[in-house]
Amino acid sequence: MAAQIPTVLTIAGSDSSGGAGIEADLKVITAHGCYGMTTITALTAQNTTGVRAIHCVPEEHVRKSLDAVFEDMPVDVVKTGMLGSAGTINIIAEAIEKYGVEKIVVDPVMVSTSGTELLPDDAIASLTKRLLPKTYLLTPNVPEALCLIQQPQREITSISDMLSVAEQLAAMGPRYVLLKGGHVPFKKDGTRVAGDRKGELMVDILYQSATKSYEVSKKPFIDSKHTHGTGCSIASAIASNLAKGYQPLEAFIDAGKYISWAIETAPGFGKGNGPLNHMH
Ligand code: PLP
Repeated sequence: MAAQIPTVLTIAGSDSSGGAGIEADLKVITAHGCYGMTTITALTAQNTTGVRAIHCVPEEHVRKSLDAVFEDMPVDVVKTGMLGSAGTINIIAEAIEKYGVEKIVVDPVMVSTSGTELLPDDAIASLTKRLLPKTYLLTPNVPEALCLIQQPQREITSISDMLSVAEQLAAMGPRYVLLKGGHVPFKKDGTRVAGDRKGELMVDILYQSATKSYEVSKKPFIDSKHTHGTGCSIASAIASNLAKGYQPLEAFIDAGKYISWAIETAPGFGKGNGPLNHMH
């Protein structure tokens, strides 16, 4: 009898240093006991110190890759990361519709950990218009969230500020929004110093659009420079958990534990922001 293996298709860019993008996604998906498939949108030449070059995959090739996978393989969950261009986003949105994908986890990757732009400005409008309405679970960090709601300069100084951002994002289409607070750590008393990147607590919010209900998760802030690929890894862990049949809240809580462990046990590779330990 054939084994029942949950499947995840990741649509993302490649990171030659193996810490983020497609490479991280496949490791995380495998570590979660799922079968991973890929559609690569861009090739980056990079290491832990930065991105040296980006070569976008021609849009027609992205379309052919999506068709090849969907016409033959079972896809339980789709996860998207670095998408590269407005044209590629439109092709992905068409494929999601054509193949009736219900569970799509969108990590709205905009800037690399080392500061390079990974999504041109004109593509943000396509992401908002074409992909967010089809999104099952959106996983922005705070800077990405503020960009999507077109308030890039807004300061987050309280947990209720985070909640109101999550609500605004939910109104743009996704069924669930996981707003990740790694960029805005809070003090233990729930306050934060504006602009401060250090703190004691990391606050994430999982917001459900249909019920307008939410879960606030507070975890000790891990002060590490080895966080390259954290966003990719969280989204892939959640996508894998959803493929395994977990409910969104369970999928998020389990992924949070995995990521804390992966940062705490990071191998410390490279001279810059090194990768996580994906091997759990
Ligand atoms: N995707 C690719 C191909 C990347 O190179 C990067 C960062 O360098 C990312 C996504 C985003 O990485 P992170 O998970 O650290 O946000």
